[in-house]
Amino acid sequence: SWNSRRGPRGSFVPPIRSNGGSGTIISRVTGKSDYSMEDSTRKCIEMLCGLNGELPEKLRNLEPRLIEHVSNEIMDRDPNVRWNDIAGLEHAKKCVTEMVIWPLLRPDIFRGCRSPGRGLLLFGPPGTGKTMIGKAIAGEAKATFFYISASSLTSKWIGEGEKLVRALFGVANCRQPAVIFVDEIDSLLSQRKSDGEHESSRRLKTQFLIEMEGFDTGNEQILLIGATNRPQELDEAARRRLTKRLYIPLPSSEARAWIIRNLLEKDGLFMLSEEETSAICKLTEGYSGSDMKNLVKDASMGPLREALQSGVGITKLSKEDMRPVMLKDFENAMQEVRPSVSSSELGSYEEWNMQFGSLS
Ligand code: ADP
Repeated sequence: SWNSRRGPRGSFVPPIRSNGGSGTIISRVTGKSDYSMEDSTRKCIEMLCGLNGELPEKLRNLEPRLIEHVSNEIMDRDPNVRWNDIAGLEHAKKCVTEMVIWPLLRPDIFRGCRSPGRGLLLFGPPGTGKTMIGKAIAGEAKATFFYISASSLTSKWIGEGEKLVRALFGVANCRQPAVIFVDEIDSLLSQRKSDGEHESSRRLKTQFLIEMEGFDTGNEQILLIGATNRPQELDEAARRRLTKRLYIPLPSSEARAWIIRNLLEKDGLFMLSEEETSAICKLTEGYSGSDMKNLVKDASMGPLREALQSGVGITKLSKEDMRPVMLKDFENAMQEVRPSVSSSELGSYEEWNMQFGSLS
C-alpha cells in the first residue's frame, strides 16, 4: 500500500526501483484522492486527468514519478522553432508539411486513402537540423512536443526503459496532437543481434514497437519522429514502421550563407559584403549547420580579442571600440572549427537514401 512508502514526515518516497510491490503504482486512484504523493507529482497527475477527475486509462498502472518525469523533462510545452529558423532543406520542409503537418491540422480530411503514416525517419549527418525540424513540426501543427534520446533509455533508465516508454506514450496520448521525437533511434531499434544483447534491451525494443503499433492503427493524433545518423543500423521492422524516411543533408552554400547572416544579424554584427560571404561559403564546403554555428561563434570573438590587444581590460572595453566581424575572423575561426562529417560518411547516407529513402 502507499503507507509502506512513506518517508519520515509522511511524505511520498519515490521508489528507486520497482520491487513489484503494488504500492508504486497508481491503479485507478486519481491525483485528488491520493494524499501520499508529493505536491508536484499530484499537480502533474491532476493536469492529465479528465474533467471528471478520472485518470485516463492509458495512465493507469503507471508509476506517478515516471508520469511526472515525462511531463516535466520530456514534454516541451514551447519548442519555439519555426520553419523560418531553419536554413535550406526545402525538400524536407515541403514533404513534411504535406505528410505530417496537414494531417495533424486536418484529421478530418486525412483519413481513408489519405490517412497519413504515423512514423517519420529523419536521417543524415549530425548537426543538420533534424531536431529543429521535429520541433518546428510540433510548432506548426500546434502539437505537444516530446523529446527523448534513445540512448538515455538504455543508459540512464537501466531496467526501467520499458516503463518509461509506456509512460511516454501514455502521456502523449493524453496530450494530442502530439509529436514524439526519438533521437538516436538506431540505438533502440538496431538490427545488431550481438551475443551481448541484453534481454532488457530486447524487451525495450519490443515494448517500443508495440506502442508504435498501437497508435498506427487507431485514430490517435500522434506522430513518431525518429532521428539517426546511423540509418544503416535500423532493421527491417524499424524501417517498416517508419514509413517516410527523409534524408537531411549538409547545408548547401546558400543555406550556409543564410546561417551566417541570420546569426550575425541577430546581434547586429552582420557587415560582410556579398563577396566576403560567398568566399566564406566556398571555404566551408562540408560544414554542417551546427559546425557553421560554432564557426560564427568563434569568428565573432575576433573583434573582441583584437580590441583587447590594445591593453584595455575587458571591464573597461566599450562596445564601440570593437570593429565588425570580417572575413579574416572567419579564416582564423576555420583553423579552430573543422567540418565534423567526412566525405566517406556522406557517401553512405546517399547510398542508404537511394535504397530506402523517400525520394519524392
Ligand atoms: P541534428 O538533430 O540534425 O543533430 P540539430 O537540429 O540539433 O541537429 O542542430 C544543432 C544546431 O545546429 C541547431 O540548434 C542550429 O543552431 C544549428 N543548425 C543545424 N542545422 C541547421 C539549419 N538547417 N538551419 C539553421 N541552423 C541549423
